[in-house]
Amino acid sequence: MHRLLSGLHRGGGVPSVPAPPVSGASQEEIRRQNLGAVLRYVHVHGPTSRAELTARLGLNRSTIGALAADLAAAGLVTEEPPATVRRAGRPSLVVSPRTRVYAQALSIEPDRLRAARIGLGGRILDLRETDRDAGASALDAVAPLAALTEEMTRAVEPDAVRAGVAVAVTDTSRDRDGRVRIGGPDEALRAALDAAFAAGPAGPAVLAGDLADIAGLAEHVRGVAAGVDDLVYLHGGAGVSAGIIIGGRLVMGHGGRSGKVGHMVVNPGGLPCECGSRGCWQTEIGEAALLRHAGRDPGSPDGVREVLCAAAAGDPVARAAVERVADWLGFGVANLVNVVNPDTVVFGGSLRDVYTAGADTVRRRLDELALPVSREHVQLRPAALGRDAALIGAAELAFAHLLADPLNVGNPA
Ligand SMILES: [Zn+2]
Repeated sequence: MHRLLSGLHRGGGVPSVPAPPVSGASQEEIRRQNLGAVLRYVHVHGPTSRAELTARLGLNRSTIGALAADLAAAGLVTEEPPATVRRAGRPSLVVSPRTRVYAQALSIEPDRLRAARIGLGGRILDLRETDRDAGASALDAVAPLAALTEEMTRAVEPDAVRAGVAVAVTDTSRDRDGRVRIGGPDEALRAALDAAFAAGPAGPAVLAGDLADIAGLAEHVRGVAAGVDDLVYLHGGAGVSAGIIIGGRLVMGHGGRSGKVGHMVVNPGGLPCECGSRGCWQTEIGEAALLRHAGRDPGSPDGVREVLCAAAAGDPVARAAVERVADWLGFGVANLVNVVNPDTVVFGGSLRDVYTAGADTVRRRLDELALPVSREHVQLRPAALGRDAALIGAAELAFAHLLADPLNVGNPA
């Protein structure tokens, strides 16, 4: 199975109850699943009493007690009496994730390279970043990311355990001359990442995925769509891409290339797209489209923010540009809602601000064009995690091995 696919699939689902044991599953397999369910619960929801775990996971008290004790013995959780003790009865111990277990999360973004250590439980423990040269390939990013990681690793406590490494790779980058280039993770990048970061042949492989997929995963686990199992996360940047999660699992397609919604043809008579086609959705809703309609230089680094500020201040040209992009945004969202039937559509990257500024227009287009049965329940939401979504999602991916088999933890850093 494809490494990216397997990693994202394991990371994608965050069930609130353990999956029912497959008939014929061994006691050992059932125990592994239950250990994973307890660890995943406290990883996502934070410190939780044994009593609450018993209620949430549908397992009996003595089973939860034994599982929590095993996780504590493995150094993955702590168990402590609650801060406030009820008067009657024995207090239920509170199970908390231990941040000595961490994920190495990396992101290759259009203009920055970022590296973070994220503890079990999802807290960012350390974050470092550096500029990315215009025109540099994703492959060129591996050495600077390795240097940032080494700096961070030197600062960790001696008993720290690295559970895994994952990288969010931006789908498109911009050349020195301003041209957009389609990138994303490929085999050469995966090989270079494995050489720089993998903990040897026995360690888990480095996982890499498109930034939109990984940011969508973060919003699904910890962001505005937490607990929502059917969602479309739309990410705007130099291009437009989507993370599509159906039934709690990220849709990958052959080779992990699904979700390229920026290249849906919405206007056959429209402008040429960098992919070689014409009238792709991103030629109407991408950053360049907003700048073009507002009469701004398409290469301006702060241009999008300036147009949005001008629109908010009542500038008629900027306002018209935002409305026009919001209208096309609603047009494409209506099509996605008909195809995917999501509960929530999340707008991230530059589309977060475009959506916020033109929400009424997007909703009006959606109501006009999408099927009533598909559109009526759909929530439209600006992303909650901001720029850190890529790192938070990468950490979820990196923790996937541990959460699937908690007692088989990684090697000390
Ligand atoms: Zn295209």
